[in-house]
Amino acid sequence: MAGPDDRARDTGGTGNADGMSDTNGAGGAHEANAANGTTRAGTTRGLNGAGGTTGTGGLDAALFAAWAEEIAAAVRADRDRLTALDSAIGDADHGANLDRGFTAVAEALAGGRPDTPGALLSLVGNTLIRKVGGASGPLYGMAFREAGKALGDAPAVSLADLDEALAAGLAGIRKLGSATEGDKTMVDALAPALRALTQAVQEGQDPAEAVGAAAEAALAGAQATIPMQARKGRASYLGPRSVGHEDPGAASTALIVRALHAAVSRTAGAPGETSRRAPEGPA
Ligand code: ADP
Ligand code: MG
Repeated sequence: MAGPDDRARDTGGTGNADGMSDTNGAGGAHEANAANGTTRAGTTRGLNGAGGTTGTGGLDAALFAAWAEEIAAAVRADRDRLTALDSAIGDADHGANLDRGFTAVAEALAGGRPDTPGALLSLVGNTLIRKVGGASGPLYGMAFREAGKALGDAPAVSLADLDEALAAGLAGIRKLGSATEGDKTMVDALAPALRALTQAVQEGQDPAEAVGAAAEAALAGAQATIPMQARKGRASYLGPRSVGHEDPGAASTALIVRALHAAVSRTAGAPGETSRRAPEGPA
Protein backbone atom coordinates (compact mmCIF):
# COMPACT_ATOMS: atom_id res chain seq x y z
CA MET A 1 0.00 0.00 0.00
CA ALA A 2 1.71 3.15 -1.12
CA GLY A 3 1.13 6.18 -3.27
CA PRO A 4 -2.43 6.77 -4.34
CA ASP A 5 -3.81 4.02 -2.14
CA ASP A 6 -2.38 5.51 0.98
CA ARG A 7 -3.57 8.93 0.08
CA ALA A 8 -7.05 7.63 -0.47
CA ARG A 9 -7.03 5.88 2.86
CA ASP A 10 -5.64 8.83 4.77
CA THR A 11 -8.07 11.29 3.33
CA GLY A 12 -10.92 8.88 3.79
CA GLY A 13 -9.99 8.47 7.42
CA THR A 14 -9.99 12.18 8.00
CA GLY A 15 -13.29 12.64 6.24
CA ASN A 16 -14.73 9.91 8.34
CA ALA A 17 -13.71 11.33 11.67
CA ASP A 18 -17.16 12.55 12.47
CA GLY A 19 -20.71 12.03 11.34
CA MET A 20 -20.53 8.29 11.78
CA SER A 21 -23.91 8.12 13.41
CA ASP A 22 -26.09 5.91 11.30
CA THR A 23 -29.28 7.80 11.84
CA ASN A 24 -27.82 11.22 11.42
CA GLY A 25 -25.15 10.64 8.86
CA ALA A 26 -26.37 13.60 6.87
CA GLY A 27 -25.36 15.89 9.70
CA GLY A 28 -23.29 18.08 7.44
CA ALA A 29 -25.93 18.11 4.79
CA HIS A 30 -27.50 21.37 5.78
CA GLU A 31 -24.36 23.27 5.00
CA ALA A 32 -23.91 21.41 1.77
CA ASN A 33 -27.46 22.19 0.82
CA ALA A 34 -27.09 25.79 1.75
CA ALA A 35 -24.37 25.93 -0.85
CA ASN A 36 -26.49 24.53 -3.62
CA GLY A 37 -29.95 25.06 -2.25
CA THR A 38 -31.04 27.02 -5.27
CA THR A 39 -30.28 24.20 -7.59
CA ARG A 40 -31.91 21.65 -5.39
CA ALA A 41 -35.05 23.71 -5.03
CA GLY A 42 -35.10 24.09 -8.77
CA THR A 43 -34.68 20.42 -9.46
CA THR A 44 -37.27 19.50 -6.93
CA ARG A 45 -39.75 21.72 -8.68
CA GLY A 46 -38.85 20.02 -11.90
CA LEU A 47 -39.68 16.72 -10.33
CA ASN A 48 -43.01 16.21 -12.01
CA GLY A 49 -41.33 15.67 -15.31
CA ALA A 50 -38.29 13.84 -14.04
CA GLY A 51 -39.91 11.63 -11.48
CA GLY A 52 -43.40 11.41 -12.78
CA THR A 53 -43.55 7.64 -12.85
CA THR A 54 -43.74 7.49 -9.10
CA GLY A 55 -46.95 9.42 -8.92
CA THR A 56 -45.68 11.55 -6.05
CA GLY A 57 -42.54 12.14 -8.09
CA GLY A 58 -40.31 11.04 -5.26
CA LEU A 59 -37.48 8.58 -4.86
CA ASP A 60 -37.76 7.77 -1.20
CA ALA A 61 -35.67 6.02 1.44
CA ALA A 62 -37.24 2.69 0.52
CA LEU A 63 -35.91 3.06 -3.02
CA PHE A 64 -32.42 3.82 -1.76
CA ALA A 65 -32.58 0.91 0.67
CA ALA A 66 -33.60 -1.33 -2.21
CA TRP A 67 -30.58 -0.03 -4.14
CA ALA A 68 -28.23 -0.93 -1.30
CA GLU A 69 -29.78 -4.37 -1.01
CA GLU A 70 -29.49 -4.91 -4.77
CA ILE A 71 -25.82 -3.94 -4.59
CA ALA A 72 -25.21 -6.38 -1.75
CA ALA A 73 -26.80 -9.19 -3.76
CA ALA A 74 -24.97 -8.27 -6.97
CA VAL A 75 -21.61 -8.02 -5.25
CA ARG A 76 -22.20 -11.35 -3.56
CA ALA A 77 -23.10 -12.95 -6.90
CA ASP A 78 -20.09 -11.42 -8.68
CA ARG A 79 -17.64 -11.60 -5.82
CA ASP A 80 -15.43 -14.17 -7.51
CA ARG A 81 -15.41 -12.32 -10.81
CA LEU A 82 -14.37 -9.09 -9.08
CA THR A 83 -11.67 -10.92 -7.20
CA ALA A 84 -10.44 -12.57 -10.39
CA LEU A 85 -10.20 -9.17 -12.07
CA ASP A 86 -8.27 -7.86 -9.08
CA SER A 87 -5.97 -10.88 -9.08
CA ALA A 88 -4.93 -10.02 -12.65
CA ILE A 89 -3.85 -6.44 -11.90
CA GLY A 90 -4.09 -6.06 -8.13
CA ASP A 91 -4.11 -8.12 -4.98
CA ALA A 92 -7.19 -10.26 -5.44
CA ASP A 93 -9.27 -8.71 -2.69
CA HIS A 94 -11.78 -6.47 -4.45
CA GLY A 95 -14.65 -8.97 -4.41
CA ALA A 96 -14.05 -9.85 -0.78
CA ASN A 97 -13.65 -6.19 0.18
CA LEU A 98 -16.96 -5.15 -1.32
CA ASP A 99 -18.80 -8.25 -0.19
CA ARG A 100 -17.75 -7.54 3.38
CA GLY A 101 -18.77 -3.91 3.07
CA PHE A 102 -22.17 -4.39 1.47
CA THR A 103 -23.01 -7.34 3.69
CA ALA A 104 -22.45 -4.97 6.61
CA VAL A 105 -24.63 -2.38 4.88
CA ALA A 106 -27.45 -4.91 4.45
CA GLU A 107 -27.14 -5.92 8.10
CA ALA A 108 -27.25 -2.30 9.21
CA LEU A 109 -30.37 -1.71 7.13
CA ALA A 110 -32.01 -4.82 8.52
CA GLY A 111 -31.46 -3.34 11.96
CA GLY A 112 -33.26 -0.12 11.09
CA ARG A 113 -33.64 1.96 7.98
CA PRO A 114 -32.94 5.70 8.02
CA ASP A 115 -35.95 7.80 7.07
CA THR A 116 -34.45 9.85 4.28
CA PRO A 117 -32.48 9.10 1.13
CA GLY A 118 -29.67 11.35 2.36
CA ALA A 119 -29.31 9.61 5.70
CA LEU A 120 -29.51 6.25 4.01
CA LEU A 121 -26.68 6.98 1.60
CA SER A 122 -24.64 8.40 4.46
CA LEU A 123 -25.15 5.17 6.34
CA VAL A 124 -23.92 3.23 3.30
CA GLY A 125 -20.85 5.45 2.99
CA ASN A 126 -20.00 5.32 6.67
CA THR A 127 -20.36 1.55 6.75
CA LEU A 128 -18.12 1.09 3.71
CA ILE A 129 -15.45 3.31 5.23
CA ARG A 130 -15.57 1.25 8.41
CA LYS A 131 -15.68 -2.18 6.81
CA VAL A 132 -13.91 -2.11 3.48
CA GLY A 133 -10.16 -2.06 3.31
CA GLY A 134 -8.08 -1.19 0.30
CA ALA A 135 -8.46 1.81 -1.89
CA SER A 136 -12.06 1.12 -2.78
CA GLY A 137 -13.47 1.40 0.75
CA PRO A 138 -12.58 5.04 1.34
CA LEU A 139 -13.37 5.91 -2.28
CA TYR A 140 -16.82 4.33 -2.39
CA GLY A 141 -17.41 5.42 1.18
CA MET A 142 -16.66 9.00 0.27
CA ALA A 143 -18.86 8.76 -2.83
CA PHE A 144 -21.92 7.56 -0.90
CA ARG A 145 -21.33 10.06 1.90
CA GLU A 146 -21.05 12.96 -0.51
CA ALA A 147 -24.11 11.78 -2.40
CA GLY A 148 -25.99 11.53 0.89
CA LYS A 149 -24.96 15.03 1.88
CA ALA A 150 -26.11 16.40 -1.44
CA LEU A 151 -29.58 14.95 -0.86
CA GLY A 152 -29.92 16.69 2.48
CA ASP A 153 -32.86 15.71 4.64
CA ALA A 154 -35.64 15.60 2.06
CA PRO A 155 -37.96 12.63 2.60
CA ALA A 156 -38.02 11.98 -1.13
CA VAL A 157 -35.95 13.32 -3.99
CA SER A 158 -36.31 13.71 -7.72
CA LEU A 159 -34.34 12.03 -10.45
CA ALA A 160 -32.57 15.34 -11.01
CA ASP A 161 -31.61 15.39 -7.34
CA LEU A 162 -30.24 11.88 -7.69
CA ASP A 163 -28.23 13.01 -10.70
CA GLU A 164 -26.76 15.85 -8.64
CA ALA A 165 -26.05 13.51 -5.76
CA LEU A 166 -24.15 11.09 -7.99
CA ALA A 167 -22.21 14.02 -9.39
CA ALA A 168 -21.25 14.94 -5.83
CA GLY A 169 -20.22 11.32 -5.28
CA LEU A 170 -18.02 11.34 -8.36
CA ALA A 171 -16.49 14.63 -7.28
CA GLY A 172 -15.68 13.04 -3.93
CA ILE A 173 -13.94 10.12 -5.60
CA ARG A 174 -11.98 12.46 -7.82
CA LYS A 175 -10.96 14.64 -4.93
CA LEU A 176 -9.84 11.73 -2.83
CA GLY A 177 -8.15 9.63 -5.49
CA SER A 178 -7.13 12.28 -8.03
CA ALA A 179 -8.07 9.99 -10.90
CA THR A 180 -9.34 11.32 -14.17
CA GLU A 181 -10.97 9.41 -16.99
CA GLY A 182 -8.48 7.19 -18.77
CA ASP A 183 -6.56 6.30 -15.60
CA LYS A 184 -8.25 2.87 -15.52
CA THR A 185 -10.26 3.22 -12.32
CA MET A 186 -13.85 3.29 -11.14
CA VAL A 187 -14.01 6.84 -12.52
CA ASP A 188 -13.99 5.36 -16.03
CA ALA A 189 -17.33 3.71 -15.32
CA LEU A 190 -18.94 6.34 -13.11
CA ALA A 191 -18.19 9.40 -15.21
CA PRO A 192 -19.87 8.12 -18.40
CA ALA A 193 -22.77 6.75 -16.33
CA LEU A 194 -23.31 10.17 -14.88
CA ARG A 195 -23.14 11.84 -18.28
CA ALA A 196 -25.78 9.45 -19.55
CA LEU A 197 -27.98 10.09 -16.53
CA THR A 198 -27.66 13.85 -16.79
CA GLN A 199 -28.59 13.72 -20.46
CA ALA A 200 -31.56 11.47 -19.74
CA VAL A 201 -32.77 13.83 -17.02
CA GLN A 202 -32.49 16.76 -19.40
CA GLU A 203 -34.50 14.83 -21.97
CA GLY A 204 -37.20 14.15 -19.40
CA GLN A 205 -36.84 10.37 -19.46
CA ASP A 206 -38.50 8.45 -16.68
CA PRO A 207 -36.31 7.14 -13.85
CA ALA A 208 -36.13 3.53 -15.02
CA GLU A 209 -35.18 4.55 -18.55
CA ALA A 210 -32.71 7.16 -17.37
CA VAL A 211 -30.95 4.92 -14.89
CA GLY A 212 -30.97 2.13 -17.48
CA ALA A 213 -29.03 4.40 -19.82
CA ALA A 214 -26.60 5.14 -16.99
CA ALA A 215 -26.14 1.43 -16.29
CA GLU A 216 -25.36 0.74 -19.93
CA ALA A 217 -22.86 3.57 -20.00
CA ALA A 218 -21.19 2.31 -16.83
CA LEU A 219 -20.84 -1.16 -18.30
CA ALA A 220 -19.39 0.21 -21.53
CA GLY A 221 -17.06 2.40 -19.47
CA ALA A 222 -15.85 -0.59 -17.47
CA GLN A 223 -15.20 -2.57 -20.61
CA ALA A 224 -13.34 0.36 -22.10
CA THR A 225 -10.79 0.08 -19.29
CA ILE A 226 -9.47 -3.17 -20.77
CA PRO A 227 -7.01 -1.57 -23.22
CA MET A 228 -6.02 1.18 -20.78
CA GLN A 229 -2.80 1.33 -18.84
CA ALA A 230 -3.45 2.03 -15.16
CA ARG A 231 -2.21 5.36 -13.87
CA LYS A 232 -3.77 5.22 -10.41
CA GLY A 233 -4.06 2.66 -7.68
CA ARG A 234 -2.32 -0.63 -7.21
CA ALA A 235 -2.64 -1.63 -10.88
CA SER A 236 -0.47 1.33 -11.87
CA TYR A 237 2.51 -0.44 -10.34
CA LEU A 238 2.27 -2.92 -13.20
CA GLY A 239 2.78 -0.25 -15.85
CA PRO A 240 2.15 -1.63 -19.33
CA ARG A 241 1.32 -5.03 -17.87
CA SER A 242 -1.96 -3.60 -16.61
CA VAL A 243 -3.14 -3.37 -20.23
CA GLY A 244 -5.55 -6.06 -21.37
CA HIS A 245 -7.56 -6.44 -18.15
CA GLU A 246 -10.80 -4.85 -17.01
CA ASP A 247 -10.35 -2.65 -13.97
CA PRO A 248 -12.02 -4.29 -10.97
CA GLY A 249 -13.27 -1.01 -9.52
CA ALA A 250 -14.79 0.01 -12.84
CA ALA A 251 -16.45 -3.42 -12.98
CA SER A 252 -17.90 -2.99 -9.49
CA THR A 253 -19.12 0.50 -10.34
CA ALA A 254 -20.97 -0.98 -13.30
CA LEU A 255 -22.58 -3.45 -10.88
CA ILE A 256 -23.55 -0.65 -8.53
CA VAL A 257 -25.22 1.39 -11.26
CA ARG A 258 -26.93 -1.71 -12.61
CA ALA A 259 -28.23 -2.36 -9.11
CA LEU A 260 -29.68 1.15 -9.05
CA HIS A 261 -31.46 0.39 -12.29
CA ALA A 262 -32.85 -2.82 -10.82
CA ALA A 263 -34.05 -0.98 -7.71
CA VAL A 264 -35.61 1.87 -9.66
CA SER A 265 -37.28 -0.51 -12.10
CA ARG A 266 -38.61 -2.62 -9.29
CA THR A 267 -39.75 -0.01 -6.83
CA ALA A 268 -40.25 3.24 -8.66
CA GLY A 269 -40.08 2.58 -12.36
CA ALA A 270 -43.49 1.15 -13.03
CA PRO A 271 -46.37 3.59 -13.35
CA GLY A 272 -48.53 3.49 -10.26
CA GLU A 273 -45.94 1.58 -8.30
CA THR A 274 -44.61 3.89 -5.64
CA SER A 275 -42.02 1.85 -3.85
CA ARG A 276 -43.39 0.89 -0.48
CA ARG A 277 -45.48 3.95 0.09
CA ALA A 278 -49.15 4.32 -0.49
CA PRO A 279 -49.64 4.30 -4.24
CA GLU A 280 -51.57 7.20 -5.60
CA GLY A 281 -51.26 6.43 -9.28
CA PRO A 282 -53.63 4.18 -11.18
CA ALA A 283 -54.43 1.23 -8.95
P1 ADP B 1 -6.75 -2.17 -3.31
O1 ADP B 1 -6.25 -1.80 -4.67
O2 ADP B 1 -6.22 -1.28 -2.25
O3 ADP B 1 -6.56 -3.62 -3.03
P2 ADP B 1 -9.49 -2.69 -4.06
O4 ADP B 1 -8.95 -3.91 -4.71
O5 ADP B 1 -10.66 -2.88 -3.17
O6 ADP B 1 -8.33 -1.90 -3.30
O7 ADP B 1 -9.95 -1.65 -5.17
C1 ADP B 1 -9.20 -1.46 -6.35
C2 ADP B 1 -9.93 -0.48 -7.24
O8 ADP B 1 -9.94 0.81 -6.64
C3 ADP B 1 -9.27 -0.28 -8.57
O9 ADP B 1 -9.67 -1.27 -9.49
C4 ADP B 1 -9.70 1.11 -8.98
O10 ADP B 1 -10.91 1.09 -9.71
C5 ADP B 1 -9.97 1.78 -7.66
N1 ADP B 1 -8.95 2.78 -7.38
C6 ADP B 1 -7.72 2.58 -6.88
N2 ADP B 1 -7.07 3.75 -6.74
C7 ADP B 1 -7.91 4.71 -7.18
C8 ADP B 1 -7.85 6.13 -7.30
N3 ADP B 1 -6.77 6.81 -6.93
N4 ADP B 1 -8.93 6.78 -7.81
C9 ADP B 1 -10.03 6.11 -8.18
N5 ADP B 1 -10.15 4.77 -8.08
C10 ADP B 1 -9.11 4.08 -7.60
MG1 MG C 1 -7.31 -5.05 -4.36
